[in-house]
Amino acid sequence: MQSSLLPPAITELVSALSSLPGIGAKTARRLAFHMVDGASDKALALHQALSRVQNEMGHCSVCGFFSRPDEPCTLCSNPHRTPGQLCVVGRIQDVLAIEEAHIFHGRYHILGGYISPLNQVFPESLHIDSLIHRITDEHITDVIFAFDAISDADYTAQYLLEMIPHEVRLHRIAAGIPFGGELEYTDGITLSHAFTLKREITH
Ligand SMILES: [Zn+2]
Repeated sequence: MQSSLLPPAITELVSALSSLPGIGAKTARRLAFHMVDGASDKALALHQALSRVQNEMGHCSVCGFFSRPDEPCTLCSNPHRTPGQLCVVGRIQDVLAIEEAHIFHGRYHILGGYISPLNQVFPESLHIDSLIHRITDEHITDVIFAFDAISDADYTAQYLLEMIPHEVRLHRIAAGIPFGGELEYTDGITLSHAFTLKREITH
């Protein structure tokens, strides 16, 4: 079916949906048709959810997780999290994978990616300065790098261990995560092993 046959409003919806990660052209069209064809309640719910996310969601100024604007996130404001333990991850979805595996009870810091000069991601593009400040301000004793098993993550870990004060114990999870593997897609049991078998790294 030619997209030009469709009314502009639908073409626009298909195009917006297909720009999302993991949504191809056919899926985008199917979703758009589903919303238009007798599923107005679903379309309305989606519309409301999207505008709520846009109006009410921001990022925690401490750790980078989702939060309401100008408020700390649920993880940072939870008094029951173990103090002194900081798990550093690349992306928000890594926090979810670790939380769902119930293997870590301290606090998190989300870098926002990994250093990757080839992709124009430099240390200053990431939340590294705030990490270093937190380590001092929050009297962090243990930092755990829970990174994907990719070379950019290795490079980022190398970079960070130069910057973290020597008295802080550094650990890196690695065991069980295949090279090239992403935390987000690692099952809970493997992730749990990777945490249990984390190794201390010298710096
Ligand atoms: Zn937070």
